[in-house]
Amino acid sequence: MPQEPQNAKDQLTYDAIVIGSGISGGWAAKELCEQGLKTLVLERGRDVQHIKDYPTATMDPWEFKHRGEMTKDFLKENPLISRAAGYGEDDAHFFVKDKDHPYIQEKPFDWIRGYQVGGKSLTWGRACQRWSKFEFENPARFGYGIEWPISYDDVAPWYSHVEKFIGVCGNKDGIEAMPDGEFLPPFDMNAVQEHISKKIKENYPDRHLVHARWAHITEPKQIHIDQGRVKCMARNLCMRGCPFGGYFSSVSSTLPWAKKTGNLTIRPFSVVHSIIYDEKLGKATGVKVIDTNTKAEFVYKARIIFMNASALNTNLILLNSKSERFPNGLGNDNGLLGKYIAFQNYRASVTADMDGFLNRYYFGRNPTELILANYRNLHKQETDYKGGFTTFMGAYRNRGPKETAEGEVGGAYKDSLTEPGGWSAYMYLQGETIPKERNHVRLSKEQKDQWGIPLLITSVEYDDNDERMIQDFLTQTADMFEKAGCTNIQKHENKQAPGLDIHEMGGVRMGKDPKTSLLNQWNQLHLCKNVFVTDGACMATTGNQSPSILYMALTARAATYAVGEFKKGNL
Ligand SMILES: Cc1cc2nc3c(=O)[nH]c(=O)nc-3n(C[C@H](O)[C@H](O)[C@H](O)COP(=O)(O)OP(=O)(O)OC[C@H]3O[C@@H](n4cnc5c(N)ncnc54)[C@H](O)[C@@H]3O)c2cc1C
Repeated sequence: MPQEPQNAKDQLTYDAIVIGSGISGGWAAKELCEQGLKTLVLERGRDVQHIKDYPTATMDPWEFKHRGEMTKDFLKENPLISRAAGYGEDDAHFFVKDKDHPYIQEKPFDWIRGYQVGGKSLTWGRACQRWSKFEFENPARFGYGIEWPISYDDVAPWYSHVEKFIGVCGNKDGIEAMPDGEFLPPFDMNAVQEHISKKIKENYPDRHLVHARWAHITEPKQIHIDQGRVKCMARNLCMRGCPFGGYFSSVSSTLPWAKKTGNLTIRPFSVVHSIIYDEKLGKATGVKVIDTNTKAEFVYKARIIFMNASALNTNLILLNSKSERFPNGLGNDNGLLGKYIAFQNYRASVTADMDGFLNRYYFGRNPTELILANYRNLHKQETDYKGGFTTFMGAYRNRGPKETAEGEVGGAYKDSLTEPGGWSAYMYLQGETIPKERNHVRLSKEQKDQWGIPLLITSVEYDDNDERMIQDFLTQTADMFEKAGCTNIQKHENKQAPGLDIHEMGGVRMGKDPKTSLLNQWNQLHLCKNVFVTDGACMATTGNQSPSILYMALTARAATYAVGEFKKGNL
């Protein structure tokens, strides 16, 4: 195997290697570089640089060849990835194409990926609520998950650390189920959101419909200006990349910050094949990488390895890291690697109309929504299903066809587009799911990708617990809309496959006991201490809040610990 990197300027040996440059990898790079470690970030996709590589960021709808839609031929070739939320002609370049990156769905699973520098941080939805203590404690307490080796109090300072740097807007609401953080001011609630929030509070004192927390800069602080980022302009075109740096991505924030230290090297087009384990040393010594263009193989060495390839790719790399000592994948003595894959329940929503409020409008294209914090199974197990859920909520004024008898043609239709119509509102479910051993990923023994890496097999499905949660959500949400005075209340079940939530987690879970988990309380592999897993693969349970800010907090925490151990000579 050639040992020379393609670029003669590249070194072969670093203090630390980070696999993946998305939400969590960007944070690993920032912390490791800032704390003095020479760090190599390996990214399988192309390079994406802030502003320069956002080709559609300032385009108007009429400048797109298909006005933002995808052609029938394209949709036929890409039935899977085109199902992703917000996917369209304006941002398709930040998602993979189906045929380039196959995997095997033993059961239906939509694996949504963005292979480029920045990963899915370019296209994510930016919802950033903290987990509460209930999410850490209740799975073990109510018997549907293992005990986490850390508590909310361990993570709270790291949430603060991340929130201050990335910029999170929200309100301090004092809700037990959704802790407050270091917030910039929230966007405004519109009149109908305010009304529905008030009516819910009147009818259900324990239910709080409030501003969700979002990684948007509403009022830049010095730390954001130092990153070259300014106020969010409420364009709601985030998934194209934001030239203002108004929302957080690793491309606009953590990676350039790491670069400024002089300690960062990023190597795009570098797919990590596996981690190399040295039995004599009892630790990992580096990674095997394949250049995606030339298919040449390299070995990069480091004393610390951070795995941030996103949950399922991290599982894949570890399962593929076979050695005499670990024939079933690195650190996998207990056979649990790849098991207990979970996700979040996104299968239901309720829509409604609201009469009146016709003299009220709102500013700009608010890129945020409200959230109804979890109100189920907090202090005791009280429903016929386990776990809790949060509910996102929006309200808006309609335009167009709803207001015309003729439908989508003619002068009346065009006129209707120029005037705001009546109000509609929606709420949708984001529910906890139960990690189960049978929900797993494994490697194909026969089929490989274009770089000779085994294909991943996904065997993951929803269960009856999820179905019962959906029914409760639909009943409760419709009831809340009714009590708020809404009309035309419609319940929807979309029956989508797992994966389309894009909150897949687990497979390399944290835990107290090496017999039942793969990682310890610092995200180190129990059996290979210089490998840290801090993306979604590390999750022991799913909680009900959007997970990415927890990955960032865990990454910053683990990286700081790793640097401490490195400096003491322990790694
Ligand atoms: C439309 C959308 C909306 C979302 N909304 C939210 C939200 O509101 N809130 C929230 O919390 N989360 C949201 N998410 C999920 C969020 O994007 C992910 O949880 C997050 O990006 C995961 O971070 P990560 O670092 O693990 O992975 P990623 O950000 O996906 O980064 C992984 C990187 O690793 C690279 N990589 C993969 N395999 C290899 C390999 N073998 N070698 C080298 N590099 C590799 C990839 O190319 C990628 O760049 C959303 C996602 C999408 C797409």
